Amino acid sequence: MFDPVEALKAFIRHPSVSADPAFQAGMHGARDFIAGLLGSIGFAVEIVPTPLHPVILAERKGPASWPHVIIYGHYDVQPADPLNLWSSPAFEPSVRGERIYGRGAADNKGPLLTHVAAVARLLERRPDLPLRITFMIEGEEEMGSPSFPGFLKDYAERLRQADMVLLSDTGSPREDQIVLTCGLRGLVLCDVEVTGARTDLHSGLHGGVLRNPIQALAELCASLHDADGRVNVPGFYDDVLDVEPWEREQLARFGQSEAQYREFLGIPAFYTTKGYTPFEATRFLPTLEFNGIGGGYQGQGTKTVIPSKAFVKISCRLVANQQPEKIRELVYRTIAERMPKDVTYRVIDQHSGTPYVVVPPDRSNTPAGQSPVLARAFRAADAAIAEVFGKSPLYLREGGSVPIIADIKRVLGLDSVMMGLFLPEDNLHAPDESFHLGVMRKGIEASERILEGIAAE
Ligand SMILES: [Zn+2]
Repeated sequence: MFDPVEALKAFIRHPSVSADPAFQAGMHGARDFIAGLLGSIGFAVEIVPTPLHPVILAERKGPASWPHVIIYGHYDVQPADPLNLWSSPAFEPSVRGERIYGRGAADNKGPLLTHVAAVARLLERRPDLPLRITFMIEGEEEMGSPSFPGFLKDYAERLRQADMVLLSDTGSPREDQIVLTCGLRGLVLCDVEVTGARTDLHSGLHGGVLRNPIQALAELCASLHDADGRVNVPGFYDDVLDVEPWEREQLARFGQSEAQYREFLGIPAFYTTKGYTPFEATRFLPTLEFNGIGGGYQGQGTKTVIPSKAFVKISCRLVANQQPEKIRELVYRTIAERMPKDVTYRVIDQHSGTPYVVVPPDRSNTPAGQSPVLARAFRAADAAIAEVFGKSPLYLREGGSVPIIADIKRVLGLDSVMMGLFLPEDNLHAPDESFHLGVMRKGIEASERILEGIAAE
């Protein structure tokens, strides 16, 4: 059995920044490192090429009667800039107190190695364990996984044989309160560009004869929410499901304070849909947000101009049961209806992602026909987390989006058990990223129990 902390140090030393071609050697190094480690514990490793960064597939095969779990992770990391804000070099791991510092320590090298170490320990103890395990480790997560859906389609026949997916690429609020993430929001993004006159105009010579595109855009944007904070797009909420009482109860156990949250945000008051707390709103409701707006003169001093163009960038977060294509159509139709007719405009599609939700077993609305292996995994995770971390896990939907989880569901039909091992102090994507070694130690123990629980009797 390898030493997990030493392995994590070695993994961090490979600067695997997927977005920057200057880091090719680091990508290679990280890939070879994790492939070698999986080979050393008896897995059959394949490096699957993609248009960009390869996917690592490593298998422990067995009879078809054995349950089959896929463990997902990613070997790439975010860029480390700004480097001068790091207390120790980003790719030189440094243990200080209970934490290991370095880019990728938490996202996702530490949590991924947690599962690798758990598998190694479990198979050492039970070499005949009746469980098929496939590691599926990609190298493009931090750049939006562009090759991953294609990879899933190419390997669908093989991967569909699995029963479920286990991963740790989500967060928990505290060291003793682990979250099993049960939902992720989807996304629809677009840009709207409004054009008035064919060029910028002198506001003295031409002011008063045409609608300014900034005004047209502002009128449109102002119409897209009502006084209560609801998105004012007809049909927008049609497919949103009622929140189950158990979900509200789980979230209440999270124990956050609204006043503290408001102070953290630095706002005088919340602007939240009636009937939902701010914490419920970020997890259970869809949104429409303006991510950027522009047009006209932005420089020093003044310039009396009627700009030719104005633009806004819009993103919607979707919740379970909403379809990105349908929401896109509703938003576009509303824009078409409300845009003043004395300007021209175009809408530019940006990417989208499907929302995801999984219902843990023994809940009021557990779907019939849920995989018995998945149900076993949830029960094992519940018991393991309670025993190892000292508190039962919380089952929560998250406000963010991890599109690959929905892709795995859509292409392979598989649900995911997401054990959150990041803490708020881990500084993901920021300088001084770190991973808590106590969480890693307990995570290994919990993962080992979960995998043993999934295995056949
Ligand atoms: Zn990640």
